[in-house]
Amino acid sequence: MVGRAVIDLHVHSSVSDGTDPPEVIAELAASAGCSAFALTDHDTLAGLARARERADQVGIQLIGGCEVSCAFAGASTHVLVYFIDSEEGALHDELARLREDRIRRNHQLVDLLVSLGIPITYEEAVAAASTEDSVGRPHFAAILVSKGVAESIPDAFDRYLAHGRPGFVPKARVSPAEIAKVARASGGVCVLAHPFTLELPPDELDRAVSELADAGFSGIEAHYANYRPEQRRALAELAARHDLVATGGSDYHGTVKPGLAVGTGRGDLKVPDEVLEQLAARRP
Ligand code: AMP
Ligand code: ZN
Ligand code: FE
Ligand code: FE
Repeated sequence: MVGRAVIDLHVHSSVSDGTDPPEVIAELAASAGCSAFALTDHDTLAGLARARERADQVGIQLIGGCEVSCAFAGASTHVLVYFIDSEEGALHDELARLREDRIRRNHQLVDLLVSLGIPITYEEAVAAASTEDSVGRPHFAAILVSKGVAESIPDAFDRYLAHGRPGFVPKARVSPAEIAKVARASGGVCVLAHPFTLELPPDELDRAVSELADAGFSGIEAHYANYRPEQRRALAELAARHDLVATGGSDYHGTVKPGLAVGTGRGDLKVPDEVLEQLAARRP
């Protein structure tokens, strides 16, 4: 093959809040021409074995991972964890606690939406997901659309579910330093996901990234499908300044995030496979 192979280090399956099963994710990554992909479901490793089995069949490498919600810089942010090969250990135990907290949050979210006059039940939310502990806000958004109280999934977030909106309920979140500690104890590395979600001015983002580097982070997500070329460049420079790997991915979620494809994002995503080697060199 001429040219560099590409990879995708940020993909969700129906094991969390995506709409395609883990096996299909492996197929999509292979047909997009990826040499490797990471399955990064929210707070769970439960899809990895299924994804790995199909990845082996279609001849693509699976990187075991997950995406964890953390409290950081006065906001909530997401941390991607990679190279998790075991479904036991410190990270697994922490994720189990986070899933318990997700269930508590989801009960509160149902109560809050009911108090806002929306007839929704906890059972409906669970029925929208693969398991009770994988119910996420995108599932709630889809239910709000089906009930006609929102026009689309983004509209459901804008009206109710996003931070600062009337239907927002926070999840208790651990710190990035705590996640880095348990991830490294489980053989993994940590990467700050979609750094602009922190909504920090450049100097504060620089300080935040420096703090994460000190806390044992290995990279930041620079080549993110929803970022413009100049944003990706700025993040790659930010990574280089702090001796961090500039990673990337699509954040594919299937039909709940339309317009994104595994591997190619919005058509212009190209995460070179060298990124995986750089990241692997940071393994504990
Ligand atoms: P949860 O972990 O249940 O709080 O849900 C987080 C997920 O909701 C994210 O990973 C996104 O997939 C989705 N999400 C968060 N904010 C928005 C938004 N403003 N518009 C659309 N999707 C969003
Ligand atoms: Zn998600
Ligand atoms: Fe995220
Ligand atoms: Fe994600």
